[in-house]
Amino acid sequence: MTAPLRVGITGGIGSGKSAVTERLITLGINVVDADVVAREVVAVGSPALKKIVEHYGSDILQDDGTLDRAALRRVVFADPDERLWLEALTHPLIGESIARQLATASSPYAVLSSPLLLEGSQRDFVQHVVVVDVPEEVQIDRTTTRDSNSEELVRSIMAAQMCRKDRLAAADTVIDNSGPLDALDSQVALLHEKLLSLAAAR
Ligand code: ADP
Repeated sequence: MTAPLRVGITGGIGSGKSAVTERLITLGINVVDADVVAREVVAVGSPALKKIVEHYGSDILQDDGTLDRAALRRVVFADPDERLWLEALTHPLIGESIARQLATASSPYAVLSSPLLLEGSQRDFVQHVVVVDVPEEVQIDRTTTRDSNSEELVRSIMAAQMCRKDRLAAADTVIDNSGPLDALDSQVALLHEKLLSLAAAR
């Protein structure tokens, strides 16, 4: 059996990646979420979590022994060297897990959803790039509503991500998610047909 076509879905925080992938999952498509994988590699009992505790002390854990992700995020956003240290530890582990899951997917095409698809080496995992696009003000509105994060935190996360223009330039397909959710439904249906055709044509 040939391996499935590998499709990357990306977009800035709050652009609607999860809204798109939820719809693809209901169509039977296997979706690997890079954020989920990133949490799995630092799960309780993992070698990576042990190294993080050795590096930062047990204050980086919550009372239940899980990683205090908000505390870690504050440390690495404040200090680029700490960010590099953490990435050197976790990125290879995340990459191995993503590659394994994409290779064993059983749908005609398999999706990697990642906010950092185009920033690092994850681009190499996929053969087609879908960008979910909204104006920056919509990103901020939807993210602050979803997570009750401050606008300042959302803006700092956006500043660390690729700019909208560069992301759009890297897209093979663009989903415009600035409209209502029913407009997204019809765009995802069209995307699904397109990706099925691309997968079948290989
Ligand atoms: P991402 O996964 O890219 O961070 P989400 O899919 O979680 O973004 O979308 C961000 C928030 O905006 C979620 O609360 C989601 O339900 C909402 N949302 C997504 N698309 C739309 C839309 N077209 N109209 C209104 N709300 C939306």
